[in-house]
Amino acid sequence: MLDAKIKQQLSEYLTLLQNPVVIKQQAGNDENSLLQKEFLSEIASMSDKITLEEGTFARIPSFSINLVGEDTGVIFSGVPLGHEFTSFVLALLQVGGRPPRIEQELINRIKSINQELHFTTYVSLTCNNCPEVVQNLNIMSILNPKITHTMVDGAVFRSEVEEKEILAVPTVYLNGTFFSGGKVSLEKILEKLGVNVSFDIQVDGPFDILVIGGGPAGVSAAIYAARKGVKVGIISEKIGGQILDTLNIENVIGIKQITGQNLALNFEEHMKDYNIQIIKSHRVKQIKKDDLFNIELENGFVLQSKTVIIATGARWRNLNVPGEEQFKNKGVAFCPHCDGPMFKNKDIAVVGGGNSGVEAAIDLAGTSSFVTLLEFMPELKADKVLQDKLYSLPNVKVLKNVQVKELKGSKNLEQLVYIDRQTQQEHTIDIQGVFIQIGLMPNTDWLGDFVERNRVGEIIVDNKGATSVPGVFAAGDCTNSPYKQIIISMGSGAIASLSAFEYLIKTKT
Ligand SMILES: Cc1cc2nc3c(=O)[nH]c(=O)nc-3n(C[C@H](O)[C@H](O)[C@H](O)COP(=O)(O)OP(=O)(O)OC[C@H]3O[C@@H](n4cnc5c(N)ncnc54)[C@H](O)[C@@H]3O)c2cc1C
Repeated sequence: MLDAKIKQQLSEYLTLLQNPVVIKQQAGNDENSLLQKEFLSEIASMSDKITLEEGTFARIPSFSINLVGEDTGVIFSGVPLGHEFTSFVLALLQVGGRPPRIEQELINRIKSINQELHFTTYVSLTCNNCPEVVQNLNIMSILNPKITHTMVDGAVFRSEVEEKEILAVPTVYLNGTFFSGGKVSLEKILEKLGVNVSFDIQVDGPFDILVIGGGPAGVSAAIYAARKGVKVGIISEKIGGQILDTLNIENVIGIKQITGQNLALNFEEHMKDYNIQIIKSHRVKQIKKDDLFNIELENGFVLQSKTVIIATGARWRNLNVPGEEQFKNKGVAFCPHCDGPMFKNKDIAVVGGGNSGVEAAIDLAGTSSFVTLLEFMPELKADKVLQDKLYSLPNVKVLKNVQVKELKGSKNLEQLVYIDRQTQQEHTIDIQGVFIQIGLMPNTDWLGDFVERNRVGEIIVDNKGATSVPGVFAAGDCTNSPYKQIIISMGSGAIASLSAFEYLIKTKT
């Protein structure tokens, strides 16, 4: 069932098991049960530290990964292949004694939880946002005996997913009630549970260069700054930024192919080689200037720095039409890789005729019944090769020169209303899902008037990354850079950093 290369890699990983692991399984005779039995037998045959036993579970087929004589509460319902294979391997290794790659502070917070928490995460095996959530909750379950976590493959337990009206993954339930939708970091989970981040950030005096944002631009800026031997900090909600939403990256020169998750892990490892203070899971609220820059976090803590590099990136752009907010995760989606499988055999729409919209429509046409692509302009903006492919598909209709007016439904999305811009006539199409692919918005609202921004909110920088405020530099997708790409963000992060260093020398602050 597993191909030779994966088996070879897995055998190497399984040598890392320090303790015996017991997999308990309950399966029937249906197709998925047989698949799960085959999968687990193959895994068990690869290490004498793994034994298989019968178990009892609420869903069939399911299995749990345990220590001898001690259940961990880590359960997989379905077969964790696709993107969840990594979650399975990590759970196996962590139960088998390999410590999870998280900070001690987080481990302490997880262990301090003193209430019964039973999490269930609904996933699709093609969702690249799901493994992070599954892996976070598995870690919690392994570290704390009061916590359990079940991963449920929505494609196998379709009726349960339909009954719960889940239209986006990952969707997490806690003790039977909705807990979260979409990707959620371990820090956010703990915050939602009220196991709060320590308010105290240990900072020893002001920074020379403080970077805000931990995407490609911010990480590059921090590393360049640290190589100059100055005092550097980086503060970000998460390390990785948009690449955490990217399945496959093939245009970082020198790396033929890498997943976004792995590139983000590399970012963090690379920063740890330098003297950089990494402050994660915090958002900056505002910057004020007196002798130094005062950077206030959302929790009220204030950091000080002689110079600042803003690299807060961008997020998906909304349509801003009635119904969009109401039906988010109930038919309104942004990530085709993640949520596409939830719309299998359904009629859907894609809004946006650029490369990402057309790519999404081509991708979704493979599983959905019918895809309507809507573009505001009279022509699609996507590359010709993508357009050719799109027009060759029998189950796709393209509507150009149209404006989405409203998204309608009762509990879930049911209709999209658009206006034909030439005739001004209003039309309605019946759909169960819409993927919005109309570009990005810079994460700069929090800056107010502090630095000069353009009409769309991007920070205006010169060719040295300098903003309108001396000592404040900016880089990456939050700026008026004409192209938004990883390598471009990394380059502009380096430029901003070298400029900040030059500023420090010249001003001798
Ligand atoms: C689905 C998808 C696929 C893509 N594929 C590719 C590809 O294959 N190749 C390629 O070159 N590019 C790709 N891109 C574009 C690329 O990811 C971006 O150009 C790049 O990530 C921008 O880097 P950045 O550092 O400027 O910003 P971001 O990656 O957006 O990072 C900004 C960071 O700042 C943090 N932040 C924001 N506000 C605050 C605040 N107030 N306080 C603290 N932290 C904050 C965010 O949490 C985030 O971590 C893709 C983008 C997407 C969405």
